[in-house]
Amino acid sequence: MFGNPWIFIRGVPSMEFLPPEGPTEIAFAGRSNVGKSSLINALVGQKGLARTSNTPGRTQELNYFVPDGYTGAAGDLPPMALIDMPGYGYAQAPKAHVDAWTKLVFDYLRGRATLKRVYVLIDSRHGIKKNDDDVLSLLDKAAVSYQVVLTKTDKIKAGAVPHLMAETLEKIRKRPAAFPEIVATSSEKGEGIEELRSAILTAIRN
Ligand code: GDP
Repeated sequence: MFGNPWIFIRGVPSMEFLPPEGPTEIAFAGRSNVGKSSLINALVGQKGLARTSNTPGRTQELNYFVPDGYTGAAGDLPPMALIDMPGYGYAQAPKAHVDAWTKLVFDYLRGRATLKRVYVLIDSRHGIKKNDDDVLSLLDKAAVSYQVVLTKTDKIKAGAVPHLMAETLEKIRKRPAAFPEIVATSSEKGEGIEELRSAILTAIRN
């Protein structure tokens, strides 16, 4: 299914604009510039699907993507949707902006029965920052299963990746809704992408 062309359904500024519940949803969250658009594009093998932009914090919408032409035929993978959450944590964000982000995301996390898992992206160079920690707490509070993905591993020494994975795992170990495995990725080099696809499909099937 990751090989199908994917299409953008719509940007969702508040809950009433969400498509009706149907396919199993997998959402992606991360600080602005963490590499979220690049990772989604790498996952689906389509460069232009999620916009890659260096202008942080502009859109406050959940972007909703589904594979085109799903037939439901025997042997097909289960129907699924990818939800790109707005980036957080950019320095100049006014409080009203942060509050709007929190409301949209929390409403979605709490109110969406078809949401299966959230992938929280962490930049390998920076590790878990205070605002990432706040988002993990929000996910724990909403009791939505989440898994941490390290991005841009090509930007740190190859030898440092296992240590960073262990250190990150230690930091989330006691969090109730955290999935106890970290995926290390580089969209640039294509590393960890297949592993992430498998993790997503396993989450959807369970
Ligand atoms: P978003 O704001 O989280 O959607 O981040 P983007 O996907 O737009 O990426 C932000 C910047 O990081 C862009 O300049 C990307 O080219 C760069 N980037 C994203 N992923 C990687 C990666 O795996 N390796 C490297 N070296 N750069 C990356």
